[in-house]
Order: sequence, then structure tokens, then C-alpha cells
Amino acid sequence: MNKPILIGAAVETELEFLINKLENVVKRKIDDYDFWEGMINSFPVVVYKTEVGTINATMSTVIAIKEYNPMFIVNEGTAGSHINTLLPGDIVIGKEIIAIDSYKSNNRKLGEGSNPFEWSIAGFSNEKAIECDKELLNFALKIKKFYHDGKVCVARIGSGNVFNKEADRIKNLYEKVNTVCEEMEGIGVYKVCNRLNVPVISFRVISNNEILGMRYDVSYGKKSQIFSYEFVKRYIEDK
Ligand code: SAH
Repeated sequence: MNKPILIGAAVETELEFLINKLENVVKRKIDDYDFWEGMINSFPVVVYKTEVGTINATMSTVIAIKEYNPMFIVNEGTAGSHINTLLPGDIVIGKEIIAIDSYKSNNRKLGEGSNPFEWSIAGFSNEKAIECDKELLNFALKIKKFYHDGKVCVARIGSGNVFNKEADRIKNLYEKVNTVCEEMEGIGVYKVCNRLNVPVISFRVISNNEILGMRYDVSYGKKSQIFSYEFVKRYIEDK
């Protein structure tokens, strides 16, 4: 029996298209997280709900790996753009993910206020950017031509328990740490996979561009699933 492929996303609207693609689906709850076990072209695939945020993503991914011993994990879902050339519908393949809610401030006395623009990001020794699996990245580059709803780029994703809507702060993040978009789970998933030696890749669709005033639109959640389904289906066919 093959090891299953795992696909994780935070909310129902980022999962339902994939769950509908599973044959013989069985829903399970493990430690209160949701898993849908099934098949794609007779190959075992498990879709799971990370829920929102890095702590949920970390917990659910540890549970998923211990339960299923997966071949690899795809993390997918929506993300907010950090640059004005990445628009809703575009896909970012997470070559690497870096924590953007992990920072050190300068010293300021009482009454001197706060300036997030000075803060250093990922200043702690174990919080550098974490890379995706190279073989999965190469395969993603091969299949990206089958996505027709936007551009597909390979870049660094910022991840953390934060939803930035201040255009200057977003611009500052791009300039400081070179993140082209942000989401709230990927760093947890990449960290767990890195530690437990499970190949991982992230596919995020842009659902909002706060710099251009394009607000979060839940309907884009389908598009990262379309991309992820194409990836997994073709990976299975290719094997
Ligand atoms: N309905 C929510 C928005 C979704 S929560 C609200 O407004 O409260 C955010 C989810 O979408 C997370 O799972 C995250 O991974 C993703 N996401 C999309 N755009 C984001 C952004 N600009 N910043 C952070 N997370 C974003």
C-alpha cells in the first residue's frame, strides 16, 4: 500500500472542492481536527483542516504525520499579496516560508511610543526561512502551465498570526524580508515537516491585495484547490 498524500488548508472554503474530488471518502475526527480519507485514481489521499493560525496548523500537521505517515504534504489556501503585481487569482508556490509575527523591537522608554518599521523580523536563531521540497517544486514547475486563472510564481511566503491591512506595513515587509504574500498557517506546516523529514510544498492563491484596495474574497479559495488537485492528480499519474 502506498503512503498517502496529505493536503491541508485552514477553512472549509479552501477544502470543499478537494473533498468532492475524493473517491470513497470517509470523514474522521482525530483530537478534534477534521480529516477526510479517500482516493484519487486509486491512490490514497487525505485532506485535513489545519484550522486558522500557526498553532492549529502545527498541531494538526503533527497529528496528521503521526497518524498517516504521508508521502508528502501540500499546504494550500488563500493569501494576501505584498506587491502590486500579484493579483487575486495568481498562485504563489512557496519556495520558502518565513515567520512574519516573530520580531524584536528596539529599546524605547515609557512615553517614546512604538514603531513597527524598526522591528527586526525573524531575529531568533531557529526562525529562518524554511524551504519546500526540491523534487515537489520541480514537479510543480512542470504542471503550472495547466493553471489558467492567473500567473504562477515561485517565491518566499510570509506566515504568522497576523492579517496586515496597512499598505505601508505590507510594503515594508516586502522590502525587509522579501515576502510576496502572507498567510497564517504555512510556517507551522513547513516547520513540522522540516523537523519530521516529510517533504512539503505550499500553493497559495492571492485572495486580497490590500495595497491596491482589493479586499479578502473568499471565493478565490477554490483556485488554490484547483491548482493543488492538478498537482496531486498528475503526480499520481506520473508515478
Ligand atoms: N474571514 C476572516 C478572513 C480569513 S482569515 C476575517 O476577516 O476575519 C484568514 C485566512 O485566510 C487564513 O487562514 C490565512 O491563511 C488566509 N489569508 C488570506 N489573506 C490573508 C492576509 N492578507 N493576511 C493573512 N492571512 C490571510
